[in-house]
Amino acid sequence: MNEIKDKVIIITGASSGIGEACARELVDRGAKVMLAARRADRLEKLANELSSDGSAAGYHETDVTKKDQLEQLAAATLEKFGRIDVLVNNAGLMPLSPLEKLKLDEWEQMVDVNIKGVLYAFAAVLPKMLDQGSGHIINVSSVAGHVVFPGAAVYCATKFAVRAFAEGIRQESKGRLRSTIISPGAVDTELTDHISDEDTKEAMGDIVAIAIKPDAIARAVAFAVEQPGEVDINEIIVRPTKQDL
Ligand code: NDP
Repeated sequence: MNEIKDKVIIITGASSGIGEACARELVDRGAKVMLAARRADRLEKLANELSSDGSAAGYHETDVTKKDQLEQLAAATLEKFGRIDVLVNNAGLMPLSPLEKLKLDEWEQMVDVNIKGVLYAFAAVLPKMLDQGSGHIINVSSVAGHVVFPGAAVYCATKFAVRAFAEGIRQESKGRLRSTIISPGAVDTELTDHISDEDTKEAMGDIVAIAIKPDAIARAVAFAVEQPGEVDINEIIVRPTKQDL
């Protein structure tokens, strides 16, 4: 039995990288996806490519730092597909820098997107999932949610927070919701494009060189989704074979 077929899945950060790869993999396996991010042009193009008649893919321009926009995303999903089975809480950013550079704007951005965005998206879908009596929250953390390394203190703090939150969901919603943490290692996406600190960006060269393609993460997400309802895959770490960290 295909447990992915016809599931309605919201994916945040679907305009590039891991989110886009998840959309492709999940639609390929029969899911209906609602794509969310700020770059609506990219979402529209992807939705059209995935489903020319719109039956398997929709999109909604969403800034995850704005609570009301996540509520609108959930409402748009219900209007189009009638239910919400899975939330892939994936939107995130990683402007790494040493603490002493005091890039407070970037710290705030990471807290707003990587933590508050994750909470807002959860809050927007929870009532419907409880009402349905089922639902699956997939939170994208990171290897940086397991270990701390120089230049990444705030990013690691946000990804540790995501893991803590996901474990809390699991404990509080036993038998009702499934909670999965996906912790990728280095993946070849646009994530490092937003590093403003030149030394840090240069130091990322080695890790970027060994990064794996985002479809590897999408397959892990699909694995968690395809399990029967009583099976809760709580965490998957997916690293490049060559990665030390
Ligand atoms: P990308 O930069 O390719 O994708 C990030 C996505 O997040 C984009 O779709 C972007 O869309 C979206 N996003 C950023 N800010 C917002 C916002 N305010 N509102 C809505 N969407 C937003 O990177 P990845 O695909 O690599 O990142 C996806 C997740 O994977 C992140 O949580 C990241 O931390 C995590 N991760 C990535 C790893 C890697 O090596 N690549 C390793 C470990 C974890 P838009 O700009 O259109 O809004």
